[in-house]
Amino acid sequence: MARPEPAGRGLVDPQGRRLTYLRLGVTERCDLRCTYCNVAGASSDGGDELSLAELTTLGVAFARHLGFHKLRLTGGEPLLRADLAGIVRAMRDEAGFARIALTTNGRLLAGHVRELAAAGVQQVNVSLDTLCAGAYREVRGADALDDVLRGIDAALAVGRLRVKVNVVLLRSVGFAEFDSFLAWGAGRPIDLRFIELMPIEGLDEFHRREHVSGEPLIARIVDRGFEPQESEPDAGPAAVYARPGDPLRVGFVSAITRPFCERCNRLRVAPRGALKLCLFGRGFVDLRPFLARGPAAVAEVVRRAIALREDGFRSVGRPVGCEAERGMRGIGG
Ligand code: SAM
Repeated sequence: MARPEPAGRGLVDPQGRRLTYLRLGVTERCDLRCTYCNVAGASSDGGDELSLAELTTLGVAFARHLGFHKLRLTGGEPLLRADLAGIVRAMRDEAGFARIALTTNGRLLAGHVRELAAAGVQQVNVSLDTLCAGAYREVRGADALDDVLRGIDAALAVGRLRVKVNVVLLRSVGFAEFDSFLAWGAGRPIDLRFIELMPIEGLDEFHRREHVSGEPLIARIVDRGFEPQESEPDAGPAAVYARPGDPLRVGFVSAITRPFCERCNRLRVAPRGALKLCLFGRGFVDLRPFLARGPAAVAEVVRRAIALREDGFRSVGRPVGCEAERGMRGIGG
């Protein structure tokens, strides 16, 4: 069996891309029904999601054996897992990930964020999309805006957490509310991320209606005194802007109009153990059967799978699910 990779070095794929970032879906269950994510009929009671012990084996394989150093816990809604703080602790203490982030809809965040930060979460991304209660209900399928805003305030109150707010750009919502978002974010130490809507199979009509490029917003923000920022080492794909004297940072992730495949440093594992080689690719490898054999065996399967990694975006053009089309929550975004 091959030797473990040095910590933080990751794996290199056939295109020469160094992979160091794991996005791990911990559940497919979700308490919201977002119009751009939810494919009709795709549901799960969570009974078949990986256990804490299985997730720990996976984490040890990626961090200790494959040299991955960044982890994002996503879903579905990760806060629906009662053992989420235990998962975070295992990922920090047993697997040894250096950076642990969480993507959440924020609805249950206020009650859990201190415990999660104590367990090892360093960054929280909260999906928000709109600041208007009516539009929130329409886009995300529940009356939860106040709870989410409370969750963001609670995350900021922890003090040491990096807080990002994800806004999926919809023509009628996030795009139209751009100025309100800037006013809301001004003076707050947050990263606002405007994310281009990705096409999901089964939601084509919605995509045709609501997809909009963020480019005009970039021009607008520059007019307001925001300047492009140097990207930090290991930064994500966002083009980031800030203005002097304001802790607010504003970023744009444009996976469709400005694909960033050549800089892709991530792999995804879905809630039932499917390793996805590319968000846009059909290929996946089921890691679950290998988990009982321990982290070294899992790492070996991942190494072999990487040899098949290609540039899925150009061939497929939209994110696709794993075992079935299950919307973005089956992949974790
Ligand atoms: N439940 C959590 C949440 O709401 O953030 C985590 C899972 S969610 C699938 C992860 C991210 O994917 C969210 O920021 C969500 O807005 C984004 N997302 C889902 N469907 C998308 C789509 N079609 N295009 C772009 N982003 C999408």
